[in-house]
Amino acid sequence: LLHKGSGLQVVVGLGQSGLSVAHYLANQGYQVAVTDAQAAPKLANQLPPEISIRQFGSIDAELLQQAARIIISPGISLDTDAVAAARQANIPVVSDIQLFCEACTVPIVAITGSNAKSTVTTLVGQMAADAGVNVGVGGNIGVPALTLLANDDMELAVLELSSFQLETVTNLGAQVATVLNMSPDHLDRHGDMLGYHQAKHRIFQGAKSVVINREDALTRPLVADNLPRVSTSIQAPDKGQYGLIIDSEGQTYLARGTERLLSADKLLIKGRHNLLNAQAALALGELAGLPLDSMLQTLQQFSGLDHRCQYVAKVTNIDYFNDSKGTNIGSTIAAIQGLGEVYAPKDGKLLLILGGQGKGQQFGELTSFINQYVSHVLMIGEDAKMIEQHLRSAKLSEDVALYQCQTMENAFATVPQVTKSSLSQVQAVLLSPACASFDQYSGYAARGEHFIQLVNQLSMANQVV
Ligand code: ADP
Repeated sequence: LLHKGSGLQVVVGLGQSGLSVAHYLANQGYQVAVTDAQAAPKLANQLPPEISIRQFGSIDAELLQQAARIIISPGISLDTDAVAAARQANIPVVSDIQLFCEACTVPIVAITGSNAKSTVTTLVGQMAADAGVNVGVGGNIGVPALTLLANDDMELAVLELSSFQLETVTNLGAQVATVLNMSPDHLDRHGDMLGYHQAKHRIFQGAKSVVINREDALTRPLVADNLPRVSTSIQAPDKGQYGLIIDSEGQTYLARGTERLLSADKLLIKGRHNLLNAQAALALGELAGLPLDSMLQTLQQFSGLDHRCQYVAKVTNIDYFNDSKGTNIGSTIAAIQGLGEVYAPKDGKLLLILGGQGKGQQFGELTSFINQYVSHVLMIGEDAKMIEQHLRSAKLSEDVALYQCQTMENAFATVPQVTKSSLSQVQAVLLSPACASFDQYSGYAARGEHFIQLVNQLSMANQVV
């Protein structure tokens, strides 16, 4: 056994990533122990049989003190008592991503940000695959990074990384790294924006090149000036950089410097935030060595991910969009603005369904966007009352009507009442909650499915008459 002598490796948290770590380390010949706060973690029966030290029911502080190294799941805070005590005792605490980058021999494209991570990660992965590259896509996107190492032929790894995964990563050494955007999220765990920013910017440690969002100064890394970098923007491109060109007829193009790459019309994903996402994917792909022509082909075929400003149906002339993955203010602003700009020229307004668990955010930041593009806000979930207070005390326009609906069903009962008025300007209903869903759902996907189900019911009801 290769590493038996190198000390006990303690896996803290037995979710999908913890399970992948346990298998990986056991395969390498390490002595491994696992601990989890749940008494009977669901995945326990999938652990390698040779792992005999399994402490379930609480995170075992004594076990942690015996560790040579602790591998912590992203769902568990570094401030958890047992973990904090181990850190005090100078026991290294790392995430699965640290193990991955130490073992990975192929270039890594590393992607983080408050929003758009999954969209851009999927796009870059698809671009690489379409260009004939043997690519592994994983990290925070459902496939634990370590499982990618099983593919001996992998030529490129594309990783979506959360702030929690990055918190404990040193010298990732990515071929290209980016923080796509920064807006307040998860401050309940990172303490404040500074902590969140610091966690995210660890992605740049040892990077060979970087992609920067010129719209967002908080995405700018503190790295050497001569490091290759490419930037994105919704403004006209700076010399040699990505941006948008609008021609004399008002047609928008994705551009690199003065070169027009693609008309925005050709993209299936809509909204200005998606124009930034498309540029980010091109820039990351470019710095990873992917061919431009092939990347532009992929872009035109990409129809976006479910639950991200996903078009559901048209019912009684109103479009329904499911943006259940809009779980923070930054993503909801992107959705309001992105879709608002589509309907405003037709004198249309949005009806916005908002609410859930607020995670300590300041919802007043939404009001200027609501005032511009939204005529009705329907609030659901446990923080609905607080959201209303925040909106009202932040100069909400008198033209915007607010409704307390508590549940999605109630919201759907309210929608026809609102939209049947001849004065209604509502042309689209947007679920973009800016909140977590766990007060009423098992997750954003369940919330989005429920929305789609209610849209379908409404559609059926309207066909019957
Ligand atoms: P993440 O993996 O970071 O959560 P997703 O791609 O799943 O990102 O998108 C999450 C939410 O953010 C969706 O509601 C989506 O509409 C919104 N969004 C997508 N791109 C952007 C962007 N560039 N800026 C802000 N919000 C965005």
